[in-house]
Amino acid sequence: MTHIITSLCLRDSGCVDVCPVECIVPGKPVEEWPWYYIDPDTCIDCGACIPECPYEAIFPEDEVPTAYEAKGGEYLNMVGLSGHYEGSNHHGDPVVLDTVRQLEAGETVDLTPDIQPNYDYFTSGPGYSAME
Ligand code: SF4
Ligand code: SF4
Repeated sequence: MTHIITSLCLRDSGCVDVCPVECIVPGKPVEEWPWYYIDPDTCIDCGACIPECPYEAIFPEDEVPTAYEAKGGEYLNMVGLSGHYEGSNHHGDPVVLDTVRQLEAGETVDLTPDIQPNYDYFTSGPGYSAME
């Protein structure tokens, strides 16, 4: 198994610092890979990253919700969306995204389609060549 970062990720980067096996990387280019990705072959499922995420974007793979119920105001960050977000990350650096949409309270979203991109990033995406 592995842990999975979902499209609730706003690139805060806090999870990267606590991962004992350094398997979390920022997706690049951001327009195509808009969140951070966990290398499934390296993740040891320790769970240390989960409480570090201010957006509660990380789940064990078998707990990624099929019907995530929005609190309201949180963002989805994925290719195909066109909303604008500006914030700052865990280190105070600016984060600007143009692939977001804000959720309404009570809206439900299936986050399981976010599982595959975490694998793809390292098998056929930019993470593949970066890890070689
Ligand atoms: S802490 Fe959360 S928002 Fe930040 S990079 Fe990790 S998963 Fe994404
Ligand atoms: S579960 Fe542990 S090993 Fe896996 S990405 Fe999170 S911190 Fe890293």
